[in-house]
Amino acid sequence: MDAYHRPTDLDDALRILAAEPVRIAAGCTDLFPATEAKVLPGPILDITAVEGLRGITATDEGIHIGAATTWTDVIRGDLPPAFDALKLAAREVGSVQIQNAGTVAGNHNNPTPAAEGVPFHMVKVASG
Ligand SMILES: Cc1cc2nc3c(=O)[nH]c(=O)nc-3n(C[C@H](O)[C@H](O)[C@H](O)COP(=O)(O)OP(=O)(O)OC[C@H]3O[C@@H](n4cnc5c(N)ncnc54)[C@H](O)[C@@H]3O)c2cc1C
Repeated sequence: MDAYHRPTDLDDALRILAAEPVRIAAGCTDLFPATEAKVLPGPILDITAVEGLRGITATDEGIHIGAATTWTDVIRGDLPPAFDALKLAAREVGSVQIQNAGTVAGNHNNPTPAAEGVPFHMVKVASG
């Protein structure tokens, strides 16, 4: 059986990532529908328990959206108006259950033209 890693520490997660070609798993709302297997083919690096990876924080450099931040976190987050488009996108993703599990990073890293978050990121990259 393939390895399933669920670290709680960011340094451990990075060590695992550097050591072997793992598949990163967050909410799995894209990963599971994409496989017919009963168990996700691995090895898997589940990032949902990594401390500090989920959430939105304002820093001196700007707004930081963690790699395990869900769409529900975005909807409920205290974000400036520049993020209204991301909030609108968040409300369009699947249903509340999907928004509770699915993450912004997972959406961005699943290359599909239907991904709600991608236009927001493209506009942000284009406008700096
Ligand atoms: C019923 C249903 C309805 C849906 N409706 C919509 C919809 O309306 N609009 C829409 O855009 N999407 C929709 N989706 C797709 C999905 O919910 C979103 O794309 C979601 O944001 C994916 O996030 P996730 O955390 O579940 O990703 P996962 O499934 O965990 O991962 C997706 C991909 O991203 C990679 N990944 C995840 N996290 C990271 C990270 N931190 N760093 C690098 N790579 C990473 C994974 O390896 C994988 O390749 C739907 C899915 C379902 C099941």
